[in-house]
Amino acid sequence: MTNLPVLIAGAGIAGLTAAVALARAGVPVVLVERRAGFSEVGAGLQLSPNATSVLDALGLAAGVGRHAVAPRRLDIRHFGGADPYAGMPMRSLPEPDAAPFWCLKRADLQTALLDAARMTPGVRLLVGRSVKAIGQHAGAVSVTVESGRGQAETIEASAVIGADGLWSAVRRIVGDTSQPRFLGYEAWRTLLPVAAVAPFASSPAVNLWLGTAGHAVHYPVAEGREINLVLIRSAQEPSPEWTREGDPARLDAVRKAAAAPLRGLIEAAPGWQVWSLFDCAPAAMAHGRVALIGDAAHPVLPFLAQGAGLAIEDAGLLAQLLPAAWQADGQAGGEGARAVPDALKRFASLRAARCARVQETGRSNGRMYHAGFPLALARDLVLKQLGDAGMRKRYGWLYGWRLPAKA
Ligand SMILES: Cc1cc2nc3c(=O)[nH]c(=O)nc-3n(C[C@H](O)[C@H](O)[C@H](O)COP(=O)(O)OP(=O)(O)OC[C@H]3O[C@@H](n4cnc5c(N)ncnc54)[C@H](O)[C@@H]3O)c2cc1C
Repeated sequence: MTNLPVLIAGAGIAGLTAAVALARAGVPVVLVERRAGFSEVGAGLQLSPNATSVLDALGLAAGVGRHAVAPRRLDIRHFGGADPYAGMPMRSLPEPDAAPFWCLKRADLQTALLDAARMTPGVRLLVGRSVKAIGQHAGAVSVTVESGRGQAETIEASAVIGADGLWSAVRRIVGDTSQPRFLGYEAWRTLLPVAAVAPFASSPAVNLWLGTAGHAVHYPVAEGREINLVLIRSAQEPSPEWTREGDPARLDAVRKAAAAPLRGLIEAAPGWQVWSLFDCAPAAMAHGRVALIGDAAHPVLPFLAQGAGLAIEDAGLLAQLLPAAWQADGQAGGEGARAVPDALKRFASLRAARCARVQETGRSNGRMYHAGFPLALARDLVLKQLGDAGMRKRYGWLYGWRLPAKA
């Protein structure tokens, strides 16, 4: 019997990384993406060593890292005060290996992953098509995929990986009815040309400004040619669109509360894109021959900068566990074969505690970042007392995660 391919729903960061990783490990992949094109709205991402080490292991680090900036420090300031009062080194750290921190444009990450997917034999990319239904039977999965014009086709697969993001259809299809919940925050994101900003903003550092009504993060990207600035502010209602253009007049109060250097950045922004922030309970990641990865399984708030990182971890581990099971599946003749469901179950059991911890730490960072008096005083005291070394140690469990050594 010939092995059926693995079908991945969604060509975001999770789906693209998983497609390349599985195909390079010998598993043919059909990658189904709802969007017809891959234009990416401008914004930045941080990838920490737990994620960059996976990209390295998958042979993707050179392509992804080409345009990244490696920050030296995290500097923390008050929203209205100019000098850093706490922080953390982001280089030369006591890591198990020398995997870097990177700041990069989301578009640069996506382009590098898409290029790799297009060049990897064994990846078949179907764009402009959505996964609509999944039927599991002994030994295989039938997936109904629909084009934008409503034409449906059925694809037989040995497994389905749901990498279709926060509003995942695959998650719903496998019976998880939990709904994303609006958190009362929105993220305003912009990219500034480096020539438009004061020198402090172009140095290789991640800058975090904490205030009661919101916070700001900025860092250089695109080999230092641009600065990514994100403002998180309270909002009454979620936007019905995934992202929309922001009216700078709505940032007046934030701008006035900001210290002069931060205000300068806000005023220099050429335009804003706005995302409403949602939280969601983690899903079970394995359902027979269907697995969920990335935001489809465990959407995280951006307060820990780990959503893409977790998605990359998921993809790397899946590509370690699934190929041998996929081989065994074919040899067992498909009928009644347990290898693939068992491998996905093992994958889920290895991911559950870590993903839940990252989700929860993101939530608690949000509460801590926006704390008012007197909690903010206690927060600042703790951050100062931790110092550089203490802060590093505090996040050792997060940044020190590595793929298990191959058996
Ligand atoms: C303000 C902000 C800042 C962030 N900063 C960071 C950061 O610094 N570091 C970090 O690691 N993360 C960060 N993140 C999180 C990160 O962007 C996400 O966690 C990550 O993009 C999730 O990737 P994904 O592939 O799981 O999902 P997505 O990127 O949402 O991709 C899902 C894909 O599936 C497709 N799709 C949807 N439904 C279907 C269907 N039925 N069939 C086929 N395809 C479908 C979609 O079109 C999309 O292409 C941030 C997020 C925000 C909002």
